[in-house]
Amino acid sequence: MLVAGGGPVGLAAAVELGRRGIECLVVEPREAVSHARPRCKTVNVRTMEHLRRWGIADRLRERAPLSPAFSTDVVFCTSLTGHELSRFTGVLGLAPQGDRFPEVGQQAPQYVLEELLREVVGELDTVTPALGARVVDLAQDPEGVTVTVAGPHGPSTVRADHVLGCDGPRSTVRECLGARYVGELALRPNLGMVFRAPDLEARVRHGPAVQYWTVNPEAPALLGPLDRDGTWWIIAFGVERGAGERDAARILDAAVGGPVDATVLSTDPWTARMQLVDTARVGRVFLAGDAAHLNPPFGGHGLNTGIGDAVDLGWKLAAVLRGWGGPRLLDSYEAERRPVQDRVVRAATANMRTLSTDLVSDDLDADGPVGREARRAADHRIQETKHAEFHALDLVLDVDHRCSPVVADGAGERLPHAWLPDGRSLYDALGPGLTLLTRPGVGTTAFTRECARRGVPLAVAAVSGEAARRLPADAVLVRPDQHVAWRGPTPPDDPAPLLDRVLGR
Ligand SMILES: Cc1cc2nc3c(=O)[nH]c(=O)nc-3n(C[C@H](O)[C@H](O)[C@H](O)COP(=O)(O)OP(=O)(O)OC[C@H]3O[C@@H](n4cnc5c(N)ncnc54)[C@H](O)[C@@H]3O)c2cc1C
Repeated sequence: MLVAGGGPVGLAAAVELGRRGIECLVVEPREAVSHARPRCKTVNVRTMEHLRRWGIADRLRERAPLSPAFSTDVVFCTSLTGHELSRFTGVLGLAPQGDRFPEVGQQAPQYVLEELLREVVGELDTVTPALGARVVDLAQDPEGVTVTVAGPHGPSTVRADHVLGCDGPRSTVRECLGARYVGELALRPNLGMVFRAPDLEARVRHGPAVQYWTVNPEAPALLGPLDRDGTWWIIAFGVERGAGERDAARILDAAVGGPVDATVLSTDPWTARMQLVDTARVGRVFLAGDAAHLNPPFGGHGLNTGIGDAVDLGWKLAAVLRGWGGPRLLDSYEAERRPVQDRVVRAATANMRTLSTDLVSDDLDADGPVGREARRAADHRIQETKHAEFHALDLVLDVDHRCSPVVADGAGERLPHAWLPDGRSLYDALGPGLTLLTRPGVGTTAFTRECARRGVPLAVAAVSGEAARRLPADAVLVRPDQHVAWRGPTPPDDPAPLLDRVLGR
């Protein structure tokens, strides 16, 4: 297996495959992870569930500079020292919600996640990183793929059974396949910056928050702390790189609401794109992550959706290569992921409709009744237009593969989460392959025997208490990605047709 691209999605795919004993070569041009572009800050609940399954959720939390206890708020204000306009709490899955999920979301700069995933990949004997190298060409035949890799010592060819193109927006793999993005580009430029301002946190009038949206005509922006040590990120809306770099001090002063002692560490211009690739698979080659889909960053979904691609493809490819999955399992990758990606692109596009720029109005900083009325109207508008962006757990968790060719009887939903009587998560009781969960007293012998005959890794667990009440049926067959493949009152006496379907035979 060759993974093109050792960004977050390629590394996640290598973790999913490598843990299942599949040998992977990860080809990645960047020797080291750069801290200059901390793009993703929102590692969402679903990604944290995968990290927990890989045994590394706590490792991310230990090294993330902001703990979930720091804040679960997003504040809209005229500036960091100006008036508060509106506030959302319990945002982005940062607060627990009973049984709904086992891991809250985590705010962490993208480089922190990437460094952790590099470390984890380094701990897997099955994964070989090829740093300082890039994929430049590939050609496939019925038996495999020949990949040309340009490395520090010149070009070489590598033979792989499959290739995953996780090489980002300018994907070479996508180009080699002749696939292309379909969709739209936003015209408005944006300038991301990382800056040091050690005294800033103490000056913020609105208390801790993970995001501050500054609604003022001088600096319509979005910013937040990267750590508790004076490092901040900002996105200045509608600002070109050149103008923004020349004008950085003025933009930062306006966002803060007064002169601030700040040093710009890096800049990162970007424009939003709403695009899906026309095909994410040609033969033995697949596209995942930004190589396959791009969405505006509002709501924090791009990387998280890419991790979902990596998980879906990872367990399926491993099942096929280990001999217990059939070819239709691979066909289901696009069938399952495309509707998810499409929904995310549409939601993120809707989030982009109202930014700080669009919320500016007269008198927001005025004293007296005029100012109060302007701020009340702004609050109303912000709550109406931005709520869905910060409270999007349905989008993140209610991913449903009902239309998938490899689920049976209308199943396909993410297994409803529950806490077990011993305090563990129900998800911790699942095996690495299929898991048959039952309420007490349901017979599993025929099913177990058929799985053993086929070499399908199966765990069986009888659950009781609240977890049993939350099961969608007396017997539930769960896939390695925690989605329900089938559910019913009792496993069929002849499980062969059901297994053929859910394993893509
Ligand atoms: C301002 C901003 C904020 C964001 N915030 C969030 C957020 O909060 N939450 C979220 O989920 N997402 C967020 N995103 C999106 C997120 O950054 C991307 O979705 C994510 O980086 C995609 O990961 P990837 O691995 O698919 O691609 P990339 O991160 O682009 O990685 C691709 C990798 O492929 C390598 N590569 C390139 N060419 C080749 C080649 N020829 N051969 C081999 N390797 C190659 C590159 O070096 C790179 O390491 C944000 C984006 C922006 C712009």
